[in-house]
Amino acid sequence: MKFDTLIIGGGLAGLVCGIALAKKGQRCVIVSSGQSALHFSSGSFDLLNTLPDGSQVSCPDRAWSALAAQAPTHPYVKLGKETFVRLASQVQPFLQKSGVLVQGSGLCNQYRITPMGTLKSTWLTLDDFPVCRMPDRLPWKKVAIFNMAGFLDFYTQFIVDEFRKIGTESSVHLFHFAGLECLRKNPSEMRSTNIARMFEKKENLEKLVLTIRQESGDAEVVLLPAIVGLVAKDGLEMLRCQVEKPLYLLPTLPPSVPGIRTQQILRKCFQDAGGVYMLGDTVKGVEKEGNRIARVYSCNHGDIPFVASNVVLATGSYFSQGLIATPDRVYEPVADLDVVYETGRDCWYDLNLFARQHYQDFGVKTDAGFRGIYQGNVLENLYVAGALLEGFNPIREGSGAGVSILSALYVAEQILSEKL
Ligand SMILES: Cc1cc2nc3c(=O)[nH]c(=O)nc-3n(C[C@H](O)[C@H](O)[C@H](O)COP(=O)(O)OP(=O)(O)OC[C@H]3O[C@@H](n4cnc5c(N)ncnc54)[C@H](O)[C@@H]3O)c2cc1C
Repeated sequence: MKFDTLIIGGGLAGLVCGIALAKKGQRCVIVSSGQSALHFSSGSFDLLNTLPDGSQVSCPDRAWSALAAQAPTHPYVKLGKETFVRLASQVQPFLQKSGVLVQGSGLCNQYRITPMGTLKSTWLTLDDFPVCRMPDRLPWKKVAIFNMAGFLDFYTQFIVDEFRKIGTESSVHLFHFAGLECLRKNPSEMRSTNIARMFEKKENLEKLVLTIRQESGDAEVVLLPAIVGLVAKDGLEMLRCQVEKPLYLLPTLPPSVPGIRTQQILRKCFQDAGGVYMLGDTVKGVEKEGNRIARVYSCNHGDIPFVASNVVLATGSYFSQGLIATPDRVYEPVADLDVVYETGRDCWYDLNLFARQHYQDFGVKTDAGFRGIYQGNVLENLYVAGALLEGFNPIREGSGAGVSILSALYVAEQILSEKL
């Protein structure tokens, strides 16, 4: 099987890279074991919320020099300030053209509402969710929060308490649906995705519209857990049209309905551009010839290799098994690339769960062009993008989606520039 580019991993990084390449006419395949971190996404894309020393960031471009001083191998530092700013400015239009509508633009952070009702800095947010400019104020004085009776992944009382602290009063309205009684018998089935499937049916949405219209009273805005819009956004759009008040979703505990829809939209965009997406296949190894990847082998294709001019490794971090940690080492399982980590497991983590967890900084070593390194030698046609990169701490910094998207766009640019 011959392709211009083989991308290993179909999460945010793999899909963004694949779309950028396929739209420029590359014959591209994505091989992906399973679902990605997008299925657990908050619905917001972080670029840089905090510097490694803990200082808050409101405009990531202005924080670039401080980041370069504190984290010299950070993916944004490898890009250089000019490229970082240029690529970050392209992301909102890129997502929009792919069918993912987000709020926020340029390089300034805004605030999103967390599942616990607190406000948290972020960069771009799906337009399903509300955002605000101030860290300690919502744009409304009175809100109506609707929730499905028995849905345990959305804590209305925490949200009410947090909103009250910042001057917003809430009324809470529980609604029942006969169609969900079968889910209610087993609390583990009462998950956002199962509920959202029920709201794919127009008649159920119509009932919800009636309930909201009858009960929302003088609230300025209606808030619902993210249990609508799994396959398409039509359901949310219909609610928004018919409720006659501004209506937004609030994030639930995982799984994330808007995150799953985002994954599906990006996958469709890649396929519409001519890309081949092979879900449920795992790349088990590569064959190298000199400093190049010559052949790639997957579980489903046995001894029939993938052959491609370039290979992009976008297999994610520990969560997706792009990195594996054993008691004494951290390794990259597909190409055995060099990984930067500390020897001595004691310094990998902090017993204080909320402190910086050092293992999150570990990752695959690359050169300045994001090419992978094997036993000290740069592999000329193997690029690395996304969560498995070295030098950044997505949780501490709030930089996860930004690193995945920007590194993917940059790798696509590198590959396309080779062709010229
Ligand atoms: C649970 C969770 C929630 C997060 N939420 C947010 C958020 O709300 N906002 C934010 O900014 N950041 C968030 N992040 C950070 C996140 O890492 C990035 O936002 C981003 O989605 C990661 O994308 P990725 O493509 O690099 O990796 P992943 O999404 O992990 O995708 C890697 C893909 O590679 C596949 N794969 C792995 N090994 C192989 C193999 N050998 N062969 C074939 N396929 C393989 C996996 O199945 C997976 O599909 C979250 C991270 C996690 C773990």
